[in-house]
Amino acid sequence: MIPTENSYQQASEITLMQEQKLQELLAYVAENSPFYKDLFSKHNIAITAIKTIADLALIPPTVKDDLQQRNDDFLCVSRDKVIEYTSTSGTLGRPVTIALTEKDLDRLAYNEYNSFLCADGSADDTYQLMLTLDRQFMAGIAYYLGIRKIGAGIIRLGPGVPALQWETIKRLKPTAIVAVPSFILKLIQFAKDSGIDINSTSVKKAICIGENIRNNDFSLNILGKKITESWNIQLYSTYASTEMQTAFTECGEGKGGHYQPELVIVEVLDENDQQVEPGAPGEVTITTLGVEGMPLLRYKTGDICMYYDEPCACGRTTLRLSSIMGRKKQMIKFKGTTLYPPALFDLLNEREEILDFVIEVSSNDIGMDQVSLFIVPADESEECDHRIRAYLQARLRVSPHIKYVTVEEIQKIQFSEASRKAIKFIDKRA
Ligand SMILES: [Zn+2]
Repeated sequence: MIPTENSYQQASEITLMQEQKLQELLAYVAENSPFYKDLFSKHNIAITAIKTIADLALIPPTVKDDLQQRNDDFLCVSRDKVIEYTSTSGTLGRPVTIALTEKDLDRLAYNEYNSFLCADGSADDTYQLMLTLDRQFMAGIAYYLGIRKIGAGIIRLGPGVPALQWETIKRLKPTAIVAVPSFILKLIQFAKDSGIDINSTSVKKAICIGENIRNNDFSLNILGKKITESWNIQLYSTYASTEMQTAFTECGEGKGGHYQPELVIVEVLDENDQQVEPGAPGEVTITTLGVEGMPLLRYKTGDICMYYDEPCACGRTTLRLSSIMGRKKQMIKFKGTTLYPPALFDLLNEREEILDFVIEVSSNDIGMDQVSLFIVPADESEECDHRIRAYLQARLRVSPHIKYVTVEEIQKIQFSEASRKAIKFIDKRA
């Protein structure tokens, strides 16, 4: 299959193509999806009334809770047609199964083929995959299929084990890695500790999954900077989710994840389900196109980001999504400003006066969000305290409640729930 690179087309052509595919989707789910049959009948929706992208607003959004409560009712095919059962991670609630048919796997491959092309991939590349292909993880399969389609080499090494990663890099000379950014930092540290000269290895680029590497203005964030200060490689961020079966991947310009309009219709919605303006935060809401097993109509992902609609310097004309600012459930409304935990993490990680921290959000007696910061300061001087407060005041424009604690105290807070990973954000709101 030779892709039609829809990302370069005129907006009007793309809209026509999407509206055609939307008609097909509506007819298909009205016929085959128990969930959408119920939804259309409950809300008196005549699918023939929905012709344009704007008409989508007539359909109430689907939310994660729907998928959790009625998971099987989203399946549009008989079970003998299902090839892969993938699953969401379930970090926020019960995991959801997404079943894929043969055709869906082809679509997934095409999606990731486009993604890797966008991230300057070619048949000359060899990718070392530092992630699992097991545990029903859709992204692992997607990367594998997409890279195969490009004709590049694949080394399926799996996550973790820096020593083995480096040994394999030396032996098989991959040109690119696919990894979680914080793991790339661990790789760098391991290389430094063991005298490996990382800048003389074959690796020239990294596809970064699962964590942000950029701020909202596309500059590299702390994590992105820490990686590139030590290792001279190009970073490409990618954002995807199991439910949407589609990725938004950066090109070499690094100005947001590119939209694949033949595979999804994306809306970025405010709290009243209205499309926000470019550059304003909203919830990523998708309608899958060409999905056979479990298609979704106006699915609200819970991910908050911004979109930009001016053409990219790479020549693609479709919109781009910023880094994910946070999860909708974790939004903090604090003294008139709206905050998400990742932005606070970046702020607090940036200062050498702050050695460690925990952010706690609670509701006060009138139901407003309260933010308390537990901070391990670099020293106990008044000057250090003053610098921390002035910095937070300047960057947040409001003053959160600060409590200074010792290293032992913060570890008690971070590991209170017998978790293996340090907890840095505690949500005590009702
Ligand atoms: Zn671009």
